Amino acid sequence: MLQVLFVLSEMVPYSKTGGLADVGGALPLALQQLGVDVRILVPWYGRPDLHEMHWFCSVNTPYSQEAAELWITPNRPGIFFLRYPDYYERDGGPYQNAQGQDWPDNPRRFALLNRVAVEMAQGRVSGLDWQPDLVHVNDWQTGLVPYLLNLETRIGSPRPATLFTIHNLAYQGRFDPAIMAELHLPAEDFHWQGTELYGAFSFIKAGLIYSDQISTVSPTYAREIQKEAFGMGLQGLLQQRSAQLTGILNGIDEVHWNPRADPYLPAHYNARSLVGKSQCKAQLQQSLGLEAQPDVFLLGMISRLVEQKGVDMVLDILPDLLQRGMQVTILGSGEKYFEARLQELAAVHPGRLAVRIAFDEGLSHRIEAGVDAFLMPSRFEPCGLNQMYSLRYGTLPIVHHTGGLADTVVDAGDFARDEERNGFVFSFAHSDDLHHAVLRAAALHREKAAWRHLQKQAMAANHSWEHAALSYLELYRQILERRK
Ligand code: ADP
Repeated sequence: MLQVLFVLSEMVPYSKTGGLADVGGALPLALQQLGVDVRILVPWYGRPDLHEMHWFCSVNTPYSQEAAELWITPNRPGIFFLRYPDYYERDGGPYQNAQGQDWPDNPRRFALLNRVAVEMAQGRVSGLDWQPDLVHVNDWQTGLVPYLLNLETRIGSPRPATLFTIHNLAYQGRFDPAIMAELHLPAEDFHWQGTELYGAFSFIKAGLIYSDQISTVSPTYAREIQKEAFGMGLQGLLQQRSAQLTGILNGIDEVHWNPRADPYLPAHYNARSLVGKSQCKAQLQQSLGLEAQPDVFLLGMISRLVEQKGVDMVLDILPDLLQRGMQVTILGSGEKYFEARLQELAAVHPGRLAVRIAFDEGLSHRIEAGVDAFLMPSRFEPCGLNQMYSLRYGTLPIVHHTGGLADTVVDAGDFARDEERNGFVFSFAHSDDLHHAVLRAAALHREKAAWRHLQKQAMAANHSWEHAALSYLELYRQILERRK
């Protein structure tokens, strides 16, 4: 049986700031179902209270006086929660305090996670009679693991294979190089083929340099990050390692996002009968104060309101769309400027534009079900989830051709095979291009049979985690084969 240690800094349902936590909640389970013996190491941030949590063992890490402990819960065997209250059980988030500033001791906090991972990887944890064949680490917070394991081989200790997955290249764990001495890391590794990144010491750089294999969360993003426009300064290194760089598309939680049984919805539906979807639309219009018009073209967007997501492009074209009689609803929060502009516009267009500045899980499901088309004009998008939820809910996505969006949405007018078409894709991250795509979608929406045909195809897509887990399993096997 293949044994894998999966290390990450946040995981649903215990902690979440972004998509990484969703992957952590789903992928290891899907791998377990394929017969992989996966153990997970994740910090415990003190919330939510877990009644049944038991002390498993203490871990002594080299060089440190930190008394770390591993805890387990009978509800989910295989998860090891790293407890070190002084580091992790604080008021605030996993990476930042309540004011949104990074915790100043982040390098030490996450170095401990990496050290403990290495103790597990090397089979040195007392009471845990287990050693992985491969260690799968995720994002900068775990970037030191491949490096520390490389140090082990330098002193003659064999080590497991390593895979580093990039979920977000924008966060690089960059710190003053002086931190290397504090973390007891050899100064001679601070150079351009080592841990140095533009003068800083970088966790992600260590992970990308020293891992056996790199992956990211979509095939298109794997190619894009080798170019200057998307590489965030790491494109040179990623080009160098392109033979060991793969893209595997994330899955979605098909139980939580299921229009046949979604508890947040007023009515349910499936690809054969969309009557329930019309009811969801009517209810959504009513609850948001939009005019009750069954045939109007209703667009939705659910997003962090930041430049990456193309909110500015949507703002550019909104007045024209509303003037043409379309309805739009936007749920999100983020930069104050975008929040204010959207609210101003909504005040001028009551009944046509509904803006909700909030994080609202239930409303996000009702929007996915109730709108006709979904706007996702992201400038870059490593994978993206909402376009996949949209497909499953028979809501046609309108997306920029980038990252995971390019890998999941095929334009209705494309040269692609008819049965693959499921949405609207535009090539340049510019409001004119987005505008044109929305007008094309609106025109097709008036042709009921053609729209219905696309909805059916959208709903047939398979984005299950099982599918993704099979690809990871294949990748694990290739990495292990190569090391023989
Ligand atoms: P990212 O991780 O870059 O924010 P993704 O599309 O990968 O983008 O994932 C975002 C997730 O967060 C989706 O599940 C989306 O529905 C959800 N989300 C974002 N903003 C909101 C909001 N205001 N209310 C509810 N859910 C939201």
